[in-house]
Amino acid sequence: MTEFSRRKFIITAGASAVGSVFLKGCLGNPPDSVTGTQTQQVAAVNISPEQAPETTRVKLGYVPIVESAPLIIAKEKGFFAKHGMTEVELSKQASWGAARDNVEIGAAGGGIDGGQWQMPMPHLISEGIITKGNAKIPMYLLAQLNTHGNGIAVASKWEGKGINLKLAQGEQIVSQLKSSGNLFKAAHTFPRVNQDFWIRYWLGAGGINPDGDINLMPVPSAQTVANMKTGTMDAFSTGDPWPYRIVKDKIGYMAALTAEIWKNHPEEYLAIRADWVDKNPKATKALLKGVMEAQQWLDNFDNREEAAKILAGRNYFNLPVEILTEPFQGKYEMGDGRTINDRSMAALYWKDEKGSVSYPYKSHDLWFFTESVRWGFLPPDTLTKAKAIIDKVNREDLWREAAKELGVAAADIPTSTSRGVETFFDGVKFDPENPAAYLKSLKIKKA
Ligand code: CA
Repeated sequence: MTEFSRRKFIITAGASAVGSVFLKGCLGNPPDSVTGTQTQQVAAVNISPEQAPETTRVKLGYVPIVESAPLIIAKEKGFFAKHGMTEVELSKQASWGAARDNVEIGAAGGGIDGGQWQMPMPHLISEGIITKGNAKIPMYLLAQLNTHGNGIAVASKWEGKGINLKLAQGEQIVSQLKSSGNLFKAAHTFPRVNQDFWIRYWLGAGGINPDGDINLMPVPSAQTVANMKTGTMDAFSTGDPWPYRIVKDKIGYMAALTAEIWKNHPEEYLAIRADWVDKNPKATKALLKGVMEAQQWLDNFDNREEAAKILAGRNYFNLPVEILTEPFQGKYEMGDGRTINDRSMAALYWKDEKGSVSYPYKSHDLWFFTESVRWGFLPPDTLTKAKAIIDKVNREDLWREAAKELGVAAADIPTSTSRGVETFFDGVKFDPENPAAYLKSLKIKKA
């Protein structure tokens, strides 16, 4: 045992009843890196032998946006430790591409076991569609982390010109730019996942084809904001805390929140490598229980000031706390004079108006597959293969078991894997029983 892990062992064992569980991890594994060892507030808990995790350690990647809050809160408020996961290392990922590469390597090789993902990254990694050399790295989707918290930012020069949630004159502007050879430029952070889908949906609903009418490309967030400042980027599909910064720094305005485009939409998820989960099913459920408790804690709005402080801290987002405080209460200054003050539009973690946020509905996985077909990211026959892929990757069964062990009320455990028909801001409906009808109803698409 190194001096460092010995010290940690004494602290942890002294503060909790999970010492014996911890000891196993401590003796059986090499010591943590310094960044991952701030185990705090380990609450005393009696873990029954049949629920005791096989390991106390896991390395989860996160990206410093509000989607990662359940992971950070579960660690910092002791919810992971309470269920025996005393050595959860949260590893900040430089980009979504880095997260993908790190999960391909795995924690044993210096990467990560899993973590926070845009959709459908876990499925695409499992199928070897976005991995190096198309290696199939089976992953399990375990819980949704959040809904909302994302939006479309537009550069200040377009303010008052009709580039809003409903693209009234936006279509005209875009076609003028197109004929002048100076295409409207928009960015997201990673192709073929959520933020790409949100801006595409918004553009398509406004009569603009994202493939041809504009120039849409992946650009790192900081670079996009710099480009918006200098006028070389027109729009940005992004998540909190960026929208607040863009407005406060007078770089642009928020044309739309994703909560306006699709209220209670699926957003980012917790997924872990299948080999890790198969080896550590009890530890997986312990992690899920920690995440669920963190999600419940986060949805108590009285806790959100504290949550903002923890997330904004130097170890995590490293930014001024006020950037998170107001959006966390559902208060958005949109930058064009519009304000939103509605808690049902804030980032939500445990429940929303449609029911469970945390539950990984297979009907949502199917929407991401359908949208991938819409834009030609995946071939049309994907729709017939989607169910088999989703059944392999989506582990709603583990979510249910963890929820029961945690004592979640039956009313908060969905009885169906489908959330039913979804309705978008332009009136379009997605019926998971008939994704082809949804594709047919859309005017702008590649498929
Ligand atoms: Ca997001």
